Amino acid sequence: MSLDLTGDLVVLFRAVVDVESVSGNEGPLADLVEEALGAVPHLRVERDGDTVIARTHTGQAGRVVIAGHLDTVPVAANLPSRLDGERVYGRGTADMKGGVAVALACAAALSSPRRDITWIFYDHEEVEAELNSLTRIAAEHPDWLAGDFAVLMEPTGAVVEGGCQGTLRCQVTTRGVAAHSARSWLGHNAIHEAAEVLERLAAYRPREVEVGGLTYREGLNAVAISGGIAGNVVPDECVVTVNFRFAPDRDEADATAHCRNVFEGFEVVFVDFAPGARPGLDLPIAQEFVAAVGGVPRAKFGWTDVARFSTLGVPAVNFGPADPGKAHADDEFCPIADLFTCRDALLRWLA
Ligand SMILES: [Zn+2]
Repeated sequence: MSLDLTGDLVVLFRAVVDVESVSGNEGPLADLVEEALGAVPHLRVERDGDTVIARTHTGQAGRVVIAGHLDTVPVAANLPSRLDGERVYGRGTADMKGGVAVALACAAALSSPRRDITWIFYDHEEVEAELNSLTRIAAEHPDWLAGDFAVLMEPTGAVVEGGCQGTLRCQVTTRGVAAHSARSWLGHNAIHEAAEVLERLAAYRPREVEVGGLTYREGLNAVAISGGIAGNVVPDECVVTVNFRFAPDRDEADATAHCRNVFEGFEVVFVDFAPGARPGLDLPIAQEFVAAVGGVPRAKFGWTDVARFSTLGVPAVNFGPADPGKAHADDEFCPIADLFTCRDALLRWLA
């Protein structure tokens, strides 16, 4: 079997979907992608693990990066794909083999693009960040990811979604003095002390802020609480775990300082952090993209690999076929029209 990049887009899409590629098993699909792109004369193809990178070298000013992951979450009796009216159902149809198929078709079609293009088809996106092949490639071959602007073809319903929120988790700890609950006046209850932490969270008014022309909405939420060791002991410790989703105008120092400020007077320990990404839509190259694609860009809620490109100094947006709300669902599907909308948009932009 081989992938026909210049034939019918729906046939190509279903072929990509029907090669199962749950994270860790991207090899067979990566082989097909490498083989198909290797046969395209205007592309230089590299392979690293199960990641395939194809680049043009036309010497045009500016380089854009267009990326999609090959892996999917586990199959839920939803392969092979099924065509039902104007939709294709099956694992990976929404997240994100529609984007992969569109990128493959455009990679073959754009033989002399207006910008040089780096096409990236990568593995292990749906699992822990340290397994994500972009982590390895950023460390070992940062030049492969270099560009002036990046498009992640994650599902957005064929609308431009700019940047992404950052996320951090912290633990707010209250302390007390342990005692037998029959003589509780000899102790001090750490769980009661946590009421003040919860009150501050309940009263918190999250910021809505415009960054690069898009409105981001923040959120500060308790996501776990623990304390107490026995049914007859006044607890001496209580830990409230808090998740802060913040707009991309905050960096790590600002986001952590904000949390320290909210929980002033309490012990705060930060347990993980992932940066946000500015949309970069004010850049001429991004405006050119938005103008070609059409529609009104909106902010991305959630964390995606655009943040990784942003960290490398490459502004990035999400743009791809299918409703992101259907990603990972058992009845995952992609509207066929979205495939053509996204393909035509990329061709308008870069041809
Ligand atoms: Zn995805």
